[in-house]
Amino acid sequence: MQTGKINVQTENIFPVIKKFLYSDHEIFLRELISNAVDATQKLKTLVSLGKADCELGDLTIDVKVNKDDKTIHVTDRGIGMTAEEVDRYINQIAFSGAEEFLTKYKGNDAANIIGHFGLGFYSSFMVANRVDILTKSYLKDAQAVKWSCDGSPDFTLEEIDKADRGTEIVLHVEDDDLQEFVSEDKLTQLLTKYCRFLPVPIRCGTKTEWRKKEDGHDNKDNEKKEEPKEEAVQVPNIINDTDPIWQKQPSTLTDEDYNKFYHELYPMSFEEPMFHIHLNVDYPFNLAGVLYFPKIKNQLDLKKNRVQLYCNQVFITDELEGIVPDFMNLLHGVIDSPDIPLNVSRSYLQSDNNVKKISTYISKKVAEKLEQMFKENREEFEKKWDDLCVFLEYGSLTDEKFYEKIKDFYLLKNTEGKYFTIEEYRNMVSALQTDKNGNIVMLYAANADDQHVYIAKAKEKGYDVLLMTGFLDTHFINMLEQKLEKVRFTRVDANVVDKLIEKEEEAHVSKLSDDQQKQLKELFEKQVDAKLFTPEVDSLSETDLPVTVTQNEFMRRFKDMEKVSGQQGFYGGFDHYNLVINGNHPLATRILEEKDEEKRTRLIQQMVDLAMLSQNILTGEKLSEFVKRSYELL
Ligand code: ADP
Repeated sequence: MQTGKINVQTENIFPVIKKFLYSDHEIFLRELISNAVDATQKLKTLVSLGKADCELGDLTIDVKVNKDDKTIHVTDRGIGMTAEEVDRYINQIAFSGAEEFLTKYKGNDAANIIGHFGLGFYSSFMVANRVDILTKSYLKDAQAVKWSCDGSPDFTLEEIDKADRGTEIVLHVEDDDLQEFVSEDKLTQLLTKYCRFLPVPIRCGTKTEWRKKEDGHDNKDNEKKEEPKEEAVQVPNIINDTDPIWQKQPSTLTDEDYNKFYHELYPMSFEEPMFHIHLNVDYPFNLAGVLYFPKIKNQLDLKKNRVQLYCNQVFITDELEGIVPDFMNLLHGVIDSPDIPLNVSRSYLQSDNNVKKISTYISKKVAEKLEQMFKENREEFEKKWDDLCVFLEYGSLTDEKFYEKIKDFYLLKNTEGKYFTIEEYRNMVSALQTDKNGNIVMLYAANADDQHVYIAKAKEKGYDVLLMTGFLDTHFINMLEQKLEKVRFTRVDANVVDKLIEKEEEAHVSKLSDDQQKQLKELFEKQVDAKLFTPEVDSLSETDLPVTVTQNEFMRRFKDMEKVSGQQGFYGGFDHYNLVINGNHPLATRILEEKDEEKRTRLIQQMVDLAMLSQNILTGEKLSEFVKRSYELL
């Protein structure tokens, strides 16, 4: 047996590794499996090039535990190592990485830096007190060796008998706190997280499979034909899908294949995605992936399934903020790129040039796919629009360049369910809906039922009304107003219909004197809650509603936006409305002429309640009072 010192200046590097990497120590398994996969792939390559003369045989990587010995075993049938190679790769090269790691280590980003400094194999000391490497090279007549190290720079190396080619790594886990890792269930869980799509089969533990039972009897003569019984059998549990969809040619795949993979990725999702994009580039960087567009029903859906980032099929993270375009947070799927520097800090990643290029590429691909769908089949595109809209809006709000790419096929939907591009719509409504300043006023409703009265009034006047029900619509129209020249958006209940779009036309002459108007206003003020309503008298057409509840466009928009961003700010605290009293309506005159105070009060209350009903804000006690009063009036 040979003993020696690992070539290292820093004594006892392992306690330091353990301490720094404590939070993330489960990645040791990812690192060991990655090495085993590399060793297997290397052998396959050598054999395919005719440079190695051996039978590949079963290349499955085995992960096993021995609870009595408190050991974890990772065994591959890859190229293995000779004694010289162990010395070179494990004692010298791998360790120089570990040292570099320690010298460069500053701050608390240690877990992120690990692989970057080639600490791969040594991460096994995060859980193990002693690590053995039993290995036999694929080379003819190779002598198997065992390397062993207990976490000090001292190691031993000895010749052993080993039947099989390849490497077995044995982790001796003494620490009581770390015994959770000496369990097939725990390892299966970690393997499923990190290794689910690695290209070499990985086996850990067993799973139950139901098979038809062969009872061996010939049932032919029996009168009762028995149902074939099922029996549970334990079969080896293969963790991974070695040939994941993103590595395949899109032309060989069907929609069904993509949907199947979607459910494999997100077993808890029962809804089908709307469609997908298969990404595939090899210049100027390497990237493959499949992105899915899910149906997002509400904000809660947003953070549910995240895009997973892989590097050569090894799972890295699903926390991608800052690495990929923001709106990827809305998408599902996987991206795999060996060109993203994975084991470095987040801030470094964000400023990395490749990462920026990848981000731009993805955003371009998504826009192109959408454009292609719009151009190839507008009808289909319109059918999907209500679910798609949120992606275009979120993409545009977070990335101006994205807006430029989608602005020609962003669709507006009106209350009749027809869809228009912004340009088409602008042309259609410009004749009737241009205000005195030359702005085209696009009217919209946020809810076709709640705002029905207002929509009907606007339509009576010949206006068209858009339907904007998405939770990002308010933010988006704010943006559109900045991008589009001379276009304003106004919700149908922002003012009485005559004033929704301000025209040069003469105002209606008031039937009431200034004094009467003041008197009318005061009468209403007495009956309503000042926190909720500001009454004002206006001279509208006689046929207009006697009282209308309106809400200033900008106040309301701010409030809506606060809601979306989850703030409860200045505007969010309360709802406030204008109460527009039509001084020219016959009922206004009647109120002023009514001498019986009780009757007059009832009339005012009834009118206010009706206006509130139209805005769908008459609820609770107020609603009961209204119903009661209405019957009395009948
Ligand atoms: P990295 O994998 O980043 O090169 P590691 O410290 O994980 O760094 O491994 C160091 C080297 O040891 C590897 O490059 C490889 O040559 C060798 N090695 C590690 N594990 C195995 C294995 N299972 N089979 C063959 N060689 C291995």
